[in-house]
Amino acid sequence: MSGVTQADVVIVGGGLLGLATAHALHGRRDVLVLERDTVGHARGGSHGSTRIFRLGYTDPRYVARAQRASELWRALEAEAGVQLLHPTPQLTFGPGADAVFAALAAAGAPAERITAAAIATRFPAFAGHGDAVLETTSAVIAADRTLATLRAHCGAELREHVRVERVDAHHVETADEIIEARAVVVCAGPWTRSLVPSVPTTATLEHAGCVRAGAGLPIFIDFAEPAVYGLPTPGSDLYKLAVHHGGPAIDPEREFAADPSAVAGLQHAIEKWLPGAELVQVDVCPYDNTADDNFVVERVDGIVVGAGTSGHAFKFGPLLGEQLAQLVLDGA
Ligand SMILES: Cc1cc2nc3c(=O)[nH]c(=O)nc-3n(C[C@H](O)[C@H](O)[C@H](O)COP(=O)(O)OP(=O)(O)OC[C@H]3O[C@@H](n4cnc5c(N)ncnc54)[C@H](O)[C@@H]3O)c2cc1C
Repeated sequence: MSGVTQADVVIVGGGLLGLATAHALHGRRDVLVLERDTVGHARGGSHGSTRIFRLGYTDPRYVARAQRASELWRALEAEAGVQLLHPTPQLTFGPGADAVFAALAAAGAPAERITAAAIATRFPAFAGHGDAVLETTSAVIAADRTLATLRAHCGAELREHVRVERVDAHHVETADEIIEARAVVVCAGPWTRSLVPSVPTTATLEHAGCVRAGAGLPIFIDFAEPAVYGLPTPGSDLYKLAVHHGGPAIDPEREFAADPSAVAGLQHAIEKWLPGAELVQVDVCPYDNTADDNFVVERVDGIVVGAGTSGHAFKFGPLLGEQLAQLVLDGA
């Protein structure tokens, strides 16, 4: 232990939420980000090349949040001069589709009902699954490029391979030092609970299959139980397909290994949605879940916590960064 050092704001975790918070504080506070691995590492919840952006939620509050996030994504793209969102049509199937349509219409967001016959003509790979809602404001987010962009434009000091052992409202302890800070933010994904035990989250290991399915396919979501979704990889013939909340509970400190029954569920979903597509790879990625899928964005024992993103927060990244930054500024 080399002693006590001083900092303004320390953020624990260099995933999407930590970097977005650092970016939102740029120019307002001096920020130090501590990441126990590397930005974009394979065990983190933000890793991989793509995520879905969509306005379509059954809950109108999430539609409003996604609309606000959309503006912030545009601002980030303009600031960095890079494209992060690739506009891609989305088909929304299943029991929640009507409520999604109603919430989008109430928010004035464009959406159309599309019949099974029209799907067969316009999106033949998705024929045979009934009517759907066509969302025209969805996009594929370049996830890895987003992390790189936030890292490059957050103006923070970032230290990788630094594991935080303990925190309180004004201290962060690593193996080498104790940092005294005006504000401490924890955005440690599924590891948050080991630092702030009262945060009610659980980790699961989710499985995504990468298949060769041809270029130009839409995003799709089937709001069945369990929900299944898929998205193209821009500029390639690869398509990612996954079962939402289809993986087992895990201890995030242990090795991650593919779960045979989750892989079987994934293969079943591929057979249903893209029959005959060649499975190229299965990737595993942790979800950091709350009981109701709502995010934790709050002050806990004086520590600002962003966690519990429950497998659907990437689209809200810049907005969650703003909200967490505001909690830091409010506490000052
Ligand atoms: C397979 C999959 C598909 C998804 N698809 C979508 C989608 O299509 N659309 C969407 O909106 N969202 C999606 N999500 C959700 C989204 O990716 C996550 O909600 C989001 O990336 C979580 O970011 P985070 O910063 O909270 O966590 P993480 O990215 O896990 O970051 C936490 C970081 O904290 C670090 N850390 C932990 N403990 C410590 C410590 N003690 N000291 C220092 N550092 C520490 C970790 O190493 C990690 O890098 C998906 C998630 C997965 C897994």
